[in-house]
Amino acid sequence: MSTSELNIIVVGAGIAGLGAAIVLSRAGHNVTIIEKSHFKEEVGFHIIMGWNATRVLGSLDFDFEKARGSDSECIGTFNGATLEAGPSFSTTTPGADNSQTRTFYRPDLHNELKRLALYPGPGKKVPKLMLGRKVISVCIDTASAILENSEIIAGDLIIGADGERSIVKRCFGESNTLKKAKYRIFRTLVPTESILEDAETRSMLDLTRRSFATFLEGNKTMFWFEGRDGLLQDLEAGYVPGEIEGPPETDPKRAKAKMLEKFKDYHPKIVASLQKAERVSEWEINYFPRPPSRIFRGKALLIGDAVHSMFPTTGQGGSQTLEDIGALSLLFSTNSSTSLPSPYPLTSPAQMHQRPNLFSKIRKERMGLVMGMSGCVFGREAEFVKKKPWLKTGIESGEEHTRILYG
Ligand SMILES: Cc1cc2nc3c(=O)[nH]c(=O)nc-3n(C[C@H](O)[C@H](O)[C@H](O)COP(=O)(O)OP(=O)(O)OC[C@H]3O[C@@H](n4cnc5c(N)ncnc54)[C@H](O)[C@@H]3O)c2cc1C
Repeated sequence: MSTSELNIIVVGAGIAGLGAAIVLSRAGHNVTIIEKSHFKEEVGFHIIMGWNATRVLGSLDFDFEKARGSDSECIGTFNGATLEAGPSFSTTTPGADNSQTRTFYRPDLHNELKRLALYPGPGKKVPKLMLGRKVISVCIDTASAILENSEIIAGDLIIGADGERSIVKRCFGESNTLKKAKYRIFRTLVPTESILEDAETRSMLDLTRRSFATFLEGNKTMFWFEGRDGLLQDLEAGYVPGEIEGPPETDPKRAKAKMLEKFKDYHPKIVASLQKAERVSEWEINYFPRPPSRIFRGKALLIGDAVHSMFPTTGQGGSQTLEDIGALSLLFSTNSSTSLPSPYPLTSPAQMHQRPNLFSKIRKERMGLVMGMSGCVFGREAEFVKKKPWLKTGIESGEEHTRILYG
């Protein structure tokens, strides 16, 4: 064992946990991932990854073709009732290969991360994956996780990648700040083939192809983005529930009927597209208003939704998670031959104590800014910032907003 090799426990195997396992194993550390599920499929909708995220994926040798990501060249804004076009913002990056903004069908993204983590190729360390094991408590001073079956797994560092209801974060002793958003989202998938069948819905693709399209009407917002090599269209429709609204609808058929009722004042072409939805579910949205006062404590560090669960409006939750992975890669790389290059490699275990602090310095301000702006629809920055002057973001336009997020 080299002097800089650490035993690292990662709780959770979502984008954050798998990403952490990839970079930390490549750096030569001994990684154990503890995941409560049995790796059932990731939630089957789309996710947009800005080029702040795809750049990190590219550095992991992520196979964009295998993951069947679709290029997304701009953010388009439209009136939901009239389809009148508002401003649009480029999401492409000049000259950088593989760092194009892309949209993925989530299970494809997840499967490619799993492949990179668990089958890294010859000469590379493979993390130990413990599936179906729920962590019920964590000791942050000894970097140990206590499992539901009373097993205790201890290491040098524990990483909480266990989502917005993080058990690791709970052990930081801070009060829980997870809040329920004032709106809900219907998530739907429509096969492109079905959209192409009718002239009315087919013409929608002229507005939405290769973009992250936003359709606004009153206090409702609908996002439309393609994925899986363009074979699937994802329509996500957000609305504000009324005072006496019941809980989210769990039956897909009734959820679809509810969505069609809520969005009946949208343009007939959008309504016709929503009618073709094959899978509809209604979601509540949770978020942290700001990062916790500490991202690390004792020997524990938080990444992903565990630390920065935010509104999905700007599609940055997963992208910020990949920025976390980029920072981990930079700070926990070693001189090992398989490690990703870093100007600051770990050369002794003693340095380990400074690295979580550095991670926090690198990430906290940035994630605070992105979290603060996460409820802002592109193109409505001035209005948003006026309502929330305390954010002091200095972001005034959609161009600036996109550049700051994706750059
Ligand atoms: C409607 C919606 C749309 C979104 N769209 C986008 C988008 O377009 N672009 C984008 O970048 N982001 C988007 N996001 C955000 C993105 O989905 C999340 O930020 C991202 O999935 C977080 O990944 P994670 O690995 O941190 O957490 P999770 O995906 O929640 O993974 C946590 C893992 O930890 C495991 N776990 C939890 N507790 C325990 C325990 N006690 N013991 C062991 N294992 C445990 C869970 O089983 C899970 O596998 C969206 C979110 C929503 C709700």
